[in-house]
Amino acid sequence: MARIFSGIQPSGELHIGNYLGAVKNWVQLQATYPGAIYCVVDYHAITGSYDPAVLRARRWGMAKSLLAAGIDPAQAVLFMQSDVPEHTELSWIFTTITPLGDLERQTQFKDKSSKMESIPAGLLMYPVLQSADILLYRADSIPVGEDQIQHLELARDTARKFNAKFGVEYFPEPKPLLTPTRRIMGLDGNAKMSKSLGNTIGLLETDEEIWQKLRPAMTDPQRVRKSDPGRPEVCNIYQLHKAFNDEATVSNVAQQCSTAGWGCMDCKKVLLEGMVQELTPIRRRSAELDAEPQRVLDALADGGRAARGIAQQTIAEVRDIMGLGS
Ligand code: SF4
Repeated sequence: MARIFSGIQPSGELHIGNYLGAVKNWVQLQATYPGAIYCVVDYHAITGSYDPAVLRARRWGMAKSLLAAGIDPAQAVLFMQSDVPEHTELSWIFTTITPLGDLERQTQFKDKSSKMESIPAGLLMYPVLQSADILLYRADSIPVGEDQIQHLELARDTARKFNAKFGVEYFPEPKPLLTPTRRIMGLDGNAKMSKSLGNTIGLLETDEEIWQKLRPAMTDPQRVRKSDPGRPEVCNIYQLHKAFNDEATVSNVAQQCSTAGWGCMDCKKVLLEGMVQELTPIRRRSAELDAEPQRVLDALADGGRAARGIAQQTIAEVRDIMGLGS
């Protein structure tokens, strides 16, 4: 049975961008891939400046959000990266076979480091740790968005290099499992939906809070008057309909929009209904977990034990292959 692995930064409670771009897919995949491994990658979150108290709250918020969104500890392994120290051990091993030039060419490193006066070495090594995250579990399929393909390429390359250097077929080359949802733009029309840009909707926001954000959200910029026909394919609200509503509603949206049958406010009200229907059970589960926080801690402890069992076996075998075993 194929094994899948995916990780998410501890950015606190999920917003609809990371829910639709990753986590909703994870929830669907856990039934197809029993034992799917999902990790809150807190070691990745310390490469920039941060406040420890904030990080603590964000780790908790992300773990709780994932469970509320439907990650089921009976089907999947959910854990905190720093609970499994083998991630950093394998990462060190991989730094010894990863060419510096490959890391310096990574787009994310170039973007982030260009804005820094002093660049932490950890920022450069970030993709090595990411390769270790994946290969530690010898995962063969990785649910990713299109923007993460470059990092996965490095993991594939690392697997090939390790196998070639030691003359073994030990690490599988992980394949991407592309997340079906198209990338959702920010509500302000920015290409990226992100909490730091303030253009998101939190997964746990109330109906009223969601509406207050949807109302002014960017639509087709050429649709100035209600009588102007719109172009659903360029409108972010239409993409959200596709994510939250059924096919019949989505085709009605396209029809009403392109014939100027309704205005954007009417369209957004229908979207709100779809969102409320999907998000209400998530908010209910989140409130239950707030009332019983031990359930989150227990899920992480069980997940950490299961992940560590696999990780320790991999490290023992890797050490042996490398001449580091007894
Ligand atoms: Fe976008 Fe809907 Fe307005 Fe069309 S009617 S432009 S899909 S918000």
